[in-house]
Amino acid sequence: MAAIRFSALATAFEREIKPYSKPKAPVSEYFGCNVFDKKKMKKYLSNEAYTHVLGAIEQGTRIDRKIADQIASGMKAWAVEMGATHYTHWFQPLTESTAEKHDAFIDFADDGQVIESFSGKLLAQQEPDASSFPSGGIRNTFEARGYTAWDPSSPAFVIGNTLSIPTIFVSYTGEALDNKTPLLKALHAVDKAAVDVCQYFDKDVNKVIATLGVEQEYFLIDEALYNARPDIVLTGRSLMGHASAKDQQLEDHYFGSIPERVTAFIDEFETEAYKLGIPVKTRHDEVAPNQFECAPIFEECNLAVDHNVLLMDMMRRIARHHKFAVLHHEKPFNHINGSGKHCNWALATNTGVNLFSPGKNPKSNLQFLTFLVNTLKAVHKHADLLRASVASPGNAHRLGANEAPPAIISAFIGKQLTDMLNALEKKVGNEKMSPNEKTELKLNVIKVPSILLDNTDRNRTSPFAFTGNKFEFRAVGSSASPAVSMIALNSAMAEQLKEFKKDVDKLIEKDVKKDEAIFQVLRKYITESKPIRFEGNNYSDEWKKEAKKRGLTNISNPVEAFDAYLTPKSKKLFTSLDVMTDRENEARTHIRWDYYTKRVQIEARVMGDLVMNHVVPVAIRYQSELIANVKGLKELFGDKEYKELAGARLELIKNISYHVSYIKAKVSEMIEARKVANKIENEREKAMEYATKIFCYLDDIRYHVDKLELIVDDEYWPLPKYRELLFIR
Ligand code: ADP
Ligand code: MG
Repeated sequence: MAAIRFSALATAFEREIKPYSKPKAPVSEYFGCNVFDKKKMKKYLSNEAYTHVLGAIEQGTRIDRKIADQIASGMKAWAVEMGATHYTHWFQPLTESTAEKHDAFIDFADDGQVIESFSGKLLAQQEPDASSFPSGGIRNTFEARGYTAWDPSSPAFVIGNTLSIPTIFVSYTGEALDNKTPLLKALHAVDKAAVDVCQYFDKDVNKVIATLGVEQEYFLIDEALYNARPDIVLTGRSLMGHASAKDQQLEDHYFGSIPERVTAFIDEFETEAYKLGIPVKTRHDEVAPNQFECAPIFEECNLAVDHNVLLMDMMRRIARHHKFAVLHHEKPFNHINGSGKHCNWALATNTGVNLFSPGKNPKSNLQFLTFLVNTLKAVHKHADLLRASVASPGNAHRLGANEAPPAIISAFIGKQLTDMLNALEKKVGNEKMSPNEKTELKLNVIKVPSILLDNTDRNRTSPFAFTGNKFEFRAVGSSASPAVSMIALNSAMAEQLKEFKKDVDKLIEKDVKKDEAIFQVLRKYITESKPIRFEGNNYSDEWKKEAKKRGLTNISNPVEAFDAYLTPKSKKLFTSLDVMTDRENEARTHIRWDYYTKRVQIEARVMGDLVMNHVVPVAIRYQSELIANVKGLKELFGDKEYKELAGARLELIKNISYHVSYIKAKVSEMIEARKVANKIENEREKAMEYATKIFCYLDDIRYHVDKLELIVDDEYWPLPKYRELLFIR
């Protein structure tokens, strides 16, 4: 058995480093070369078709069939020139990956000749047999049809020999079966609501987009070692493995120099990313050994989401060229840091203003304060939903551990802004601020960004932190689609901005001046949302106590967290904004329960198999050797001498017996517990049973396996160890 580990190690050690030869041309010359972007549309489309696409991208106008035919033909001409032979509707079903079904352009013309064909109909809509994608009960099994429909706001691209067209995915009855559909709706809602509020400050604003910059953390391990770890292959994380003597305690990995083989991998996927128009910018070593981060420059939210899922997919593929496996799991290894996906979020206007960036004059600063305070209010009101939006089986290992934000949602804004909000709040009731005070307050805001941006001591423990000109949602898990948390956040913000407008208009109707009305409403919101603001150490125990006093929830169980989707408050949020119907929302929640159950079930099965087939047999084999040795000692030496000599070995023999018996007993218990859980019909209850009754066996059993790893002869140990997985590169 150990043979697999040693042959994997030999392969890993003997790997040659193949440097990747980057294109000689500067990035600006090939950036986006595989994307059917505006420049190419201009070249390949008629003026009429081009104007229609722009309208669809910018105003969401519909494209009629005749025009769609023209666009399809231009797109095909470009793609064929690029070497594409196939096309696919590329979509994001409610699993953690993307989906595509390829069709060739090939067709017969009327005269029987083979031609490349691609029509507006095929561009606009497809009907993939979708019966194997999760639908949460929305799609009947006899009605397997699902529709994919073109999303013109995310440009088509060529990968390999395939033209990929970003699409939404809906059921026959029109319900969303993907993440993109509700995301587009939430973005539309926040656009409308924010434009209405911006109108108080600037009549030229007619479009607000949400911007998103995604920092993606990941681990790399040697492919041969990966293949020798069935747990990592099947579950994405190591279910066992004793801590390496050295891991991240020397803090020598963070921002360290990147090893050559890793650099070659990064170079290649970055080049491919550039070709697809993904503006990757930052790369660095992360805190844990073999952990890295990649961050593109922010983009419009929908595009940034597509780019993130595309990037993850590409990383997985290209890692293979360098004999690496990339792990996007939130917690692939115990004892060291896990991976997150920081989602940097802001709102930007068509006039080029970032609404979270304090401006240069008092007017724009009142606008800044308005958006800041409304964000805090939205986060306060929907903290439980935001928490739910980052809940997943993988993230359950990360949130709440002392390396990642806790399961308590709070917002950090920094001392200067806190002082400012406190000052504003003090003017309670109807006490008016003097014009001087108002101007002073607005002017003070101007100083904020430089202070915050320069402040290297930003609070890294906060799940939702203001970082100078954007909020950073840090609780998102590394494997998640950023769409899920962005749906929740942008919806919450849209609802809040609508509420704000209503409140201000009510006062204006009562003849309160606009500025004063805004101040009064903000003041009220500052007080109401105060409990969500926390500037201290989010990892501390005091915060847990304090948060409880403030009425903030601290839900570490993901199944319990999902309940927030089904509260009247959340349902109203989604339905009133037309983001999701109750049926769609409920279907998604069913999928979450089911997914959670299956993931823990798989982990439990893999654990059972591995310990019984890999670990326990080698432990017993080694124990037998020890027993034979002890017997030999007894034969050779007299009783007294034997006792002295065999003492340590007898201890080991007993220890092995203890751990093996414990493991065997617990595995049997775990199997019985699964049988009980599997009989539960109600999906939520079943997931809950898995979360509360089965999940705990994994760590319990693991503890004893890891102890055995320390005792059993290294020559026998079948699975690559942490020190090998994490340090060979
Ligand atoms: P840090 O690691 O300090 O959090 P990084 O520079 O690694 O910061 O990442 C910051 C991310 O935030 C980048 O993706 C960046 O493009 C993004 N970002 C910057 N400004 C905005 C903005 N206005 N809206 C959304 N994202 C932004
Ligand atoms: Mg960050």
